[in-house]
Amino acid sequence: MRQIISSFILAGAAVVAMAADNPIGVIGGDPLARLGLRREQLRESSPQPAAVRFVKKTQYLNNAHAVVTHTMDDSAKLVLRAVELMDKYDIKATLFVSTRTGDIAEMWPGLRMAIANGHEIGSHSRTHTCSWPDTAAFCAKTYTDTDSEIIGSRDDILKNTDQPYVWAFCYPCGLCATNQAVHEMLARAGYLVARNYPDEPHDGHVVPNLQTYAKDWYNAAYTQVVQKVGGIAKHGNTDVPTLNAKFDEVYKRGGIYSFMSHSQWLDFGPDQFYQRHMAYIGGRRDVWYVPMGLLYAYKTVVDRTQVRPVEAPAQVARFAVFNDLDPKIYLNSITLQFTAPAKTRVFSSGKPLAERETGLTDRWGDEYFRREGETLYVTVRPNTILEFR
Ligand SMILES: [Zn+2]
Repeated sequence: MRQIISSFILAGAAVVAMAADNPIGVIGGDPLARLGLRREQLRESSPQPAAVRFVKKTQYLNNAHAVVTHTMDDSAKLVLRAVELMDKYDIKATLFVSTRTGDIAEMWPGLRMAIANGHEIGSHSRTHTCSWPDTAAFCAKTYTDTDSEIIGSRDDILKNTDQPYVWAFCYPCGLCATNQAVHEMLARAGYLVARNYPDEPHDGHVVPNLQTYAKDWYNAAYTQVVQKVGGIAKHGNTDVPTLNAKFDEVYKRGGIYSFMSHSQWLDFGPDQFYQRHMAYIGGRRDVWYVPMGLLYAYKTVVDRTQVRPVEAPAQVARFAVFNDLDPKIYLNSITLQFTAPAKTRVFSSGKPLAERETGLTDRWGDEYFRREGETLYVTVRPNTILEFR
């Protein structure tokens, strides 16, 4: 993070690229030493012919084919009603709340329950100040001349919930999403990702059509809105066949379907667009349902984790799974694909991993393994030694 800040001072434009290359929460020291290993104990590859062979890190958790992530903005009590529907269809969301406005005081108990059910609370600032156009002067006055909106809102979430970290931010009214000084402040506050709401005056926010990870994590778009017309927009997006067709398009290519809503611009009921769309996209066995912040955290974990065979006694295969990321921020599991004989048992840091049948993948930190013939999908928290017996 220090590097991000200094490069910002030198050249503002460099920050965007730096954020992805040099993520938040890289820690010093030798990750192998933390596992009690020396570098010379690593093996270049498994001895041949090896009974157990590492194939790859899977693109998504549990080798899912595609991802669904949902975000919902604003501190309105109706958010909690929407969460009940999400839970009915196994959709996981980032709930972006403004921590000093709206119904927030009444919402904390429900938000704490949502966290326990696998949702994430993100920051939507403290006061949700909006004023068009978002001049540099407005962005400075609102977000960088004061710690209150970006850092204070983070601290409010940490104080009112037991969520261990605040990974995601969302720009109120989408304002200042391209402002480099605001990006630098977000990095300083430790946010991994910030969601935009692009060009609401011209309905640019309705279908930004992002179908994978954003290039700039501090100006991250989404696939589409699912909501009625509201705010200063001219259109909503509520036609169920159209909504579902966009999901199908992303699903077919194995992408990330990211949809956002405002609870105050929904209709509730089984025959209404919101519930019908969630019924269509929810409960699929080959989809990973995950909140946005944890999805981006996962990407960093996958990119920075190494898997290397380690010397081991005969009849045992060992692999070091390690990275240089702060485990207090990166709570994610990743999935490693191996080939292994039938009946092989898997241990992580000496403890047996539970075997799971194919089921719903709607969490991001669980540990288990799953068999498909000779293939083992091992889902673990990194910075461990895996052992196959
Ligand atoms: Zn908002």
